[in-house]
Amino acid sequence: MKKKFILLGAPGSGKGTLAERATAKYGILQISTGDIFRHNVADGTELGKKAKEYMQRGDLVPDGLVLDLVTDRLSQDDAQKGYMLDGFPRTIVQAEALNKTLEKSGTKIDAVVYLNVPRDELVKRLSGRRTCSVCGRSYNVGNPEFAPAVDGVCDVDGGELVQRHDDDKKVAEGRIDVYNEQTHPLVKYYQAAGILTELNGMDGAVRNFELFSKLIEA
Ligand code: AMP
Repeated sequence: MKKKFILLGAPGSGKGTLAERATAKYGILQISTGDIFRHNVADGTELGKKAKEYMQRGDLVPDGLVLDLVTDRLSQDDAQKGYMLDGFPRTIVQAEALNKTLEKSGTKIDAVVYLNVPRDELVKRLSGRRTCSVCGRSYNVGNPEFAPAVDGVCDVDGGELVQRHDDDKKVAEGRIDVYNEQTHPLVKYYQAAGILTELNGMDGAVRNFELFSKLIEA
């Protein structure tokens, strides 16, 4: 069974949904740098204070703040059995730094899963996304497959569903631009490394999880 993955794709492409399902079925750990930053912002930590303004603008947090955090997270006990990196790496510099960290520990990424979704669909998904203010789970008011059972309430813990500030249409469009400029080049980078699998993000979460499962079980 393969256990070390990078989930690559624009904001709203379905990385989190894929990761959530793989955690539920295979117990693979999801490491979302966005979630880690949001927790730090909510807790008012030094890291959170530094990251907050970049996140609110929809810009990337500087590599210097991201790299130590990820190196530290990957060294923790629960990450030794495997993980899915969600939202990292987001730049070539981050990808190179990850290579170095993995080399040092004698491990490597098994596969990079790239979810390809057209821009207009991303904008639609991000503006319909609602997030549980307690557990961070995502829903979508524009798609019955991802709608909560009760409007505005998390199915899992009853928490209030809110719109992430950076899912506001204008900020979300900026984040897609940032993705295209800074993160999309990683598709070619991992293609050249021979470890990229491309999924059509329009095929739906069920189909894509089936394909991801095959990759995990291969
Ligand atoms: P996400 O939840 O992955 O969309 O991330 C939310 C925000 O956190 C991004 O818009 C960035 O500001 C920041 N962020 C998350 N991961 C990274 C990363 N690998 N590099 C730089 N900034 C990041």
